[in-house]
Amino acid sequence: MIPPIASRFVAGETDRDVLAHARALDAEGIASICNLLGEHYDSPEPAAEDREAYCALVEAIGEAGLDTSISVKPSQLGLGVAEECFRSNLQRVVERATEHGVFVWIDMEDHETTDVTLDAYTHHVTEYEDLGVCVQANLERTPDDLHRLADYPGKVRLVKGAYDEPAAVAHREKSRVDEAYRECLDIMFAEFDGGIAVGSHDPAMVDYAKELHDTHGTDFEIQMLMGVRESAQRDLTAEYEVHQYVPYGDRWFSYFYRRMMERRQNLLFGLRAIVGR
Ligand code: FAD
Repeated sequence: MIPPIASRFVAGETDRDVLAHARALDAEGIASICNLLGEHYDSPEPAAEDREAYCALVEAIGEAGLDTSISVKPSQLGLGVAEECFRSNLQRVVERATEHGVFVWIDMEDHETTDVTLDAYTHHVTEYEDLGVCVQANLERTPDDLHRLADYPGKVRLVKGAYDEPAAVAHREKSRVDEAYRECLDIMFAEFDGGIAVGSHDPAMVDYAKELHDTHGTDFEIQMLMGVRESAQRDLTAEYEVHQYVPYGDRWFSYFYRRMMERRQNLLFGLRAIVGR
């Protein structure tokens, strides 16, 4: 069972837990993106297990009739085992999700996986339009990737980038990453017909997207994590489409630990929960 201290960031361990959270969000006008926690598998068995878990989840989402998508990690579906393993697992998840009318997001991992991930996305998205991929503003290549992705259907989530990338391929200074994020949004709003997802908690980035929306009229959605700026998420629903990324599953500890360590306030929240005040 997930301890109460972790339940701010993780919905629970089971499908039932994540669907209950999705239902509560739905009542507040927030869509959800379910992510079964798991990554960096080096054998095919856990990747196949997670593939089947996602297949069962999309069936349950379809039956529940919720505005809920899923987000999968390439290394969770076997990219570390073999590219073919990842591609065939992804194919199966996407087929089952399409049968049940569920949108599938592909998370982006470190820069060594970008080509394979984007190739899998562009391959599948011509057949299954309910597909989206994440790109990272900290990578120097991303503006070129965005120009290319503008020609495809599907959706693209822009994030700043969570991986510690080398200076040879990435901007490393926070101010430069913020500038790159704005440059990427410029490209998306100018060249995309829609399908823009702003994956950021940063009020400056969200405000910039709103400005671009006013200028270009292109639709966009805002995506934030469970447990982060939730009151802002609720406020934004008055005018914008908001999606909350909701992690769940029994491999919750390392995700929870990362969330706790990234901000001083989160650590204080954790300490207060432990001492009961
Ligand atoms: P930051 O640069 O971290 O913070 C900027 C400002 O935002 C802060 O100054 C503060 O005002 C506000 N803020 C940020 N965090 C908090 C908080 N906890 N509480 C209150 N205010 C806060 N990364 C990947 O590499 N691959 C992925 O597939 C991926 N998917 C993601 C999906 C979603 C929906 C989201 C939201 C993020 C995802 N990320 C992914 C992570 C992303 O790359 C960033 O590491 C992460 O979002 C932090 O950057 P930021 O834009 O939110 O703002």
